[in-house]
Amino acid sequence: MAQLIDGKRLSNQVLQDVACEVERLRSEHNVVPTLAVVLVGEDPASQVYVRNKVKRAKEAGMGSILHRLDAGTTQGELNRLIDRLNHDSQVHGILVQLPLPSHLDEDEVIAAINPAKDVDGFHPLNVGALAAGQASLVPCTPQGCMIMLHRVMPELRGKHAVVVGRSNIVGKPMAALLLQADCTVTMAHSRTQEIESLCRNADIVIAAAGRPGLVGADWIKPGATVIDVGINAVEVEGTRKLVGDVAFDAVSRTAGAITPVPGGVGPMTIACLLLNTTRAARQQLASLAPP
Ligand code: NDP
Repeated sequence: MAQLIDGKRLSNQVLQDVACEVERLRSEHNVVPTLAVVLVGEDPASQVYVRNKVKRAKEAGMGSILHRLDAGTTQGELNRLIDRLNHDSQVHGILVQLPLPSHLDEDEVIAAINPAKDVDGFHPLNVGALAAGQASLVPCTPQGCMIMLHRVMPELRGKHAVVVGRSNIVGKPMAALLLQADCTVTMAHSRTQEIESLCRNADIVIAAAGRPGLVGADWIKPGATVIDVGINAVEVEGTRKLVGDVAFDAVSRTAGAITPVPGGVGPMTIACLLLNTTRAARQQLASLAPP
């Protein structure tokens, strides 16, 4: 049976480090790292994610400010709020919960965030910095996946990784981080041909397609590491359940190591968000220091 990569336990370790850094910033610089979260509308999944982020931030001793905006908020109103947060020296990180209602332009909103406060790492400047290997604020989900991978595979150099999914928030930054770690990276997506055999040749498979149970046991080389990013709500015998993109029971008999859903990548994503917020606070402090 595959080794289980326990995201809850690992994320608690990251959160302990975050809490220590929060305490250092407070005692040495009188700074309380603070995350501003912007939620537009009533999307139920977004409300759960936002509640968890705010709760974890408080537990780590950080400041958190939740801005709940009406679903009918205009682009101008949202841009003005972002501008205010950009100029608020008490706010170190800004997160706009996605997806936004369809009348709002996500790209415009992301581009409006000060890149130094962009704790999601989605601003085009941070995306470019990641591609150039110079990023300081790296998207949280792929960052969490890398921490998990390092735990079970201390040496990533030369390993063949397949990333299933090419979104801006998961697939693309994931591939950039694996490349930086000297993996040989293949990106797969909905138009990829013979995806099973590509995955079967991989030492690492990252599943981020949003398709329940897409990755079966016959996709996985014996002993490979499988990271399941997917979070899909499905009905099983009348009960709503969260499952990943990987057929967990079958794949765990073939893989060498695997993440569960829930309790895998999800908790790591939140921990990395808070890690990014302390990093942003530290960098903003450094930028104020006299030369
Ligand atoms: P997107 O819908 O933005 O992207 C999905 C990607 O998967 C696309 O590139 C798509 O290809 C590809 N894809 C879809 N179907 C297939 C298929 N049958 N075979 C191969 N590739 C396929 O999703 P996200 O990247 O935002 O999220 C992916 C999953 O991860 C979701 O379940 C989401 O809920 C979850 N998630 C989990 C997080 C966590 O913290 N654990 C954080 C963020 C997301 P194409 O580009 O060709 O359409």
